[in-house]
Amino acid sequence: MNIKGTTKLLGVIGYPISHSFSPRMHNAAINHLGADFAYLPFPIKPEDLAKAIAGFEAIDLVGFSVTIPHKQTIIPLLQEITPFAQLVGAVNTVYRTPLGWCGTNTDVTGFIAPLQQLNRDWSEITPIILGNGGAARAVVVGCAELGCPEIHVIGRDKDKLAHFQQNWQNTSLTSKINVHSWDKLEGLVSQSGFLINTTPVGMHPHIDQSPLTENLSGKIQPGAIAYDLIYNPRPTKFLRDLEQQGAICFDGLEMLVQQGAAALKIWLNQEVPVEIMRSAIIN
Ligand code: NAP
Repeated sequence: MNIKGTTKLLGVIGYPISHSFSPRMHNAAINHLGADFAYLPFPIKPEDLAKAIAGFEAIDLVGFSVTIPHKQTIIPLLQEITPFAQLVGAVNTVYRTPLGWCGTNTDVTGFIAPLQQLNRDWSEITPIILGNGGAARAVVVGCAELGCPEIHVIGRDKDKLAHFQQNWQNTSLTSKINVHSWDKLEGLVSQSGFLINTTPVGMHPHIDQSPLTENLSGKIQPGAIAYDLIYNPRPTKFLRDLEQQGAICFDGLEMLVQQGAAALKIWLNQEVPVEIMRSAIIN
């Protein structure tokens, strides 16, 4: 990397941040393009968030990615927020506008990118989302963007589930979303052609776990789509079991790559080499 007096800064904020793949992925693309940018990891404690944002303005940072635990708490510190980020209720990408910092959410774009390659009539497909955390919110918005008329969300904590449902009130999605406890999953699986895991169950090192029992995996519709947001391991047990039943499977790597590519495209204002970003992570 050729850092000069003119080099412009990008980065990612989170706490902790040392595990992040983003610096590797973005700098690979920046190097490939020969762009005069550098992308750095910034470990920012929750109590230092406002100071960090003010500092970024002072050093004229061009933009930054946002990860746990700042995706929601950053919202009041920004001057603008896009309708996508507003609907998801979380920001993962920040860029400069004449008004100041603008927050958006590229997880939705990342989630739907591999699905758009499929030739499906999404108005006929009813997704079941396992888990009701932060990523599930981007997945709900993604499913609605695809055109799914009805979306089912499964969660284990009644209060969190009720809160999840309430969060969509006064949005265009409120009538589409149905929440259920895990014991209702069995009755829903056979009616669904699209199952998405947004829980961390099955993530390294617990690679022999799945949020779905093998018995339930056998009940999916022929030609169903299975999507796991986890990218380590590839594939997870959830996907291995469903692939055996004939499902078309997607893991979380492409979502990770595509959300990053969508962010870099905003900051650099040009097309970005997605295949270089993908191989930087795989390697
Ligand atoms: P989160 O906000 O903590 O939500 C996790 C959800 O999973 C919660 O609803 C949680 O329920 C549920 N859950 C956790 N353990 C469970 C278990 N043993 N059984 C049933 N449900 C369980 O996390 P997140 O940010 O949404 O991330 C979720 C996953 O998506 C992680 O694996 C993350 O790496 C992945 N992800 C991938 C991408 C990508 O680009 N590929 C992007 C974002 C996230 P409770 O609330 O009841 O604990």
